Amino acid sequence: MKKREFLKVAGVVTAGAMITPIIGCNSSEPKTSNAITANGDGTFKLPKLNYDFAALEPNIDARTMEIHHDKHHAGYVRKFNKALTDAKISGKSLTEILGGLKDTKTNTGLRNNGGGHFNHSLYWNVMSPKGGGKPTGNLADAINAVFSDFTKFRATFEKAAKTRFGSGWAWLSKGSDGKLFVSSTPNQDNPLMKNLVEKSGTPILGIDVWEHAYYLKHQNKRGDYIGNFFNVIDWDKVAENFKNA
Ligand code: MN
Repeated sequence: MKKREFLKVAGVVTAGAMITPIIGCNSSEPKTSNAITANGDGTFKLPKLNYDFAALEPNIDARTMEIHHDKHHAGYVRKFNKALTDAKISGKSLTEILGGLKDTKTNTGLRNNGGGHFNHSLYWNVMSPKGGGKPTGNLADAINAVFSDFTKFRATFEKAAKTRFGSGWAWLSKGSDGKLFVSSTPNQDNPLMKNLVEKSGTPILGIDVWEHAYYLKHQNKRGDYIGNFFNVIDWDKVAENFKNA
């Protein structure tokens, strides 16, 4: 390539980067791990699951997974993109958008649907057919430092999930002090929404306790669903989230 041609190509790349400062994902089916990155045009896409709908059976049934992903999560993504257009927001990452939300009546679409997109993307990603067991390494040390041991952590997390009134989520997050904490949020809120939650941080594990996550299999027995969730938690993935948080 001649120098002049190279500069021309480089110039195009630079101009593109200026329009969209976020690293774009142009794949039509982003992986769950990069679903929270905006596409080149500033919109977000429904991530493809890393496993089949039936892969988490018998802990989470295939029909629930299918409806939850293809209908519920898809709906959040669709409405989030509309809310972004309405608010004339582009070129921001999902974490930036959620972190900047204030408690106003005008950002309900961004809050509910942006939260919905982030939360579900994390949820799919921390589950695996090869999941279960306990964390190891640095994550295990960090859990033990706060909760004494894994059993006490699990009891704390399960209680947060069980006692969330109505619809919402329970979280294990890393705070700005580097310490882990368990919390619960209503609706599609999450600990990234620092102006809206009691304690903010970066969620590394989350469980959806909306009835749509378990009603087909467990009906009113939320506790059974939470117990089954522990059989499919991908602790390697949670450890990765902890490292990156
Ligand atoms: Mn859900």
